Order: sequence, then structure tokens, then C-alpha cells
Amino acid sequence: MVSRECSFCGTEIEPGTGMVYIRRDGAIINFCSKKCRVNQTKLKRVPRKVKWTREYQNLKAIRKASEAHNLEQSKQVESEPVSTEVNNQEGSQ
Ligand SMILES: [Zn+2]
Repeated sequence: MVSRECSFCGTEIEPGTGMVYIRRDGAIINFCSKKCRVNQTKLKRVPRKVKWTREYQNLKAIRKASEAHNLEQSKQVESEPVSTEVNNQEGSQ
């Protein structure tokens, strides 16, 4: 039995459950539940913008990793020695 993944939320569909949706253009879409089917076909939602989908979670993880990477880079820039010379010329004059 070939395991299928829900086209919307990305979870694995147990054999014998779910629904196969065939669009008029011939594209075959697997849905695990009515919730996913309605979200994609009626509400026309994009999986990467819906918080409970796997695609969103993956994007979130990638974004988090890149943010952490950027933070590390900025820390390296901050840790570089900064010249702390104080100009006392104005005070002496
Ligand atoms: Zn689903």
C-alpha cells in the first residue's frame, strides 16, 4: 500500500481513509479530512499561510534558523573591538 500525504496539511493519510479530489484540469489532490478539503477548495487558502499545516511549520523552522544565523552574525560584528578613545580636546580648550 502506497502511503499518501494530505495535499493541504501534509500529514500521512491512513489507508482506507481520506478523500481523493480530482480537479477539472486533472490534478489529483489527496485530503485527510473535510477540514483540509474545505480550506483548499472552498476557502481557497494557501497551505504556507495556514498555521496548522506542515508547510507553514517548515517555513517557520527555516525562518527561525535563518534568524538565529543572522543573530550570530550580528553578535560577531558586535564582539569586534570597538575603539573607546575619548576626545577630551573640546574640554581642554
Ligand atoms: Zn489534511
